[in-house]
Amino acid sequence: MHVIKTIEEMRLFCGGCQKEGLSVGLVPTMGALHQGHISLVKKAVIENQVAVVSIFVNPIQFNNTTDLTHYPRTLDADLALLGKAGCKVVFAPSEEEMYADKPMLSIHFGLLEQVMEGAFRPGHFSGVGVVVAKLFAIIQPTNAYFGQKDLQQFLVIQQLVKDLSFPVTLHRCAIVREEDGLAMSSRNTRLTKKNRPLAAKIFESLQLAERLLPEKGIDFTKEEVRAFLAQQKELTLEYFEIADGNTLVSQIEYKVGKITALCIVVYLDGVRLIDNVLLE
Ligand code: AMP
Repeated sequence: MHVIKTIEEMRLFCGGCQKEGLSVGLVPTMGALHQGHISLVKKAVIENQVAVVSIFVNPIQFNNTTDLTHYPRTLDADLALLGKAGCKVVFAPSEEEMYADKPMLSIHFGLLEQVMEGAFRPGHFSGVGVVVAKLFAIIQPTNAYFGQKDLQQFLVIQQLVKDLSFPVTLHRCAIVREEDGLAMSSRNTRLTKKNRPLAAKIFESLQLAERLLPEKGIDFTKEEVRAFLAQQKELTLEYFEIADGNTLVSQIEYKVGKITALCIVVYLDGVRLIDNVLLE
């Protein structure tokens, strides 16, 4: 395993790959890796001659300092998992290396950032946009892999690539779930043993919505999801949205054949859990 810590060395390594005409697949992560991340890594390993995983807890995308300080950091375990998945190159820069000075740049994504994650986490997507642009500039990947779990993030990055003409192909990868349906997340380890089973209700509520939506429409479905989750006082719904799957504009009427995104955020044990289902 080749663990690269500096921008200069990463540039040199990737420059070498380019000279040799090797395709490079990038999987950006914040570490604390689980099988959700590993599914992206395996895809990158298969589809590219060189797969690079970046591990960097990006401070400028956290609008909540408690979330940032509690974010799990497990580099040794991450490297072991990556080794097993066939990844040989990891970019793990320090905060000082990535941001010697606090970046001046901020990026706005118009309507895409005015809803859901953008609305509830001001500045989040600017931070994501800056770090991903920086990773693309340093690594210059042929392909980059992101999870559908962060659907809005994927759409934001798609916009970034389009607007800045990055020569990279983006891949949206399916959500990997625990046996009970909970979407895998680095934050799941912060759930208490007692309440962990309740987290399965989040995906159950999305499945309920998926069943109800075609026949009962948007308003009824939203009410039922709220009522379903309200049965468990430990679960606090932050938002449940039924939106256009490409623009994330909130839908008033369900249209068959149009990509529709059912997006949800629920708090449990003070942990913010995000999930979605795409009706395609
Ligand atoms: P993170 O480390 O949380 O920034 O995630 C890194 C990448 O892994 C992002 O593109 C996420 O969308 C993706 N990811 C996280 N959890 C999952 C999951 N359960 N299934 C698929 N992809 C995931």
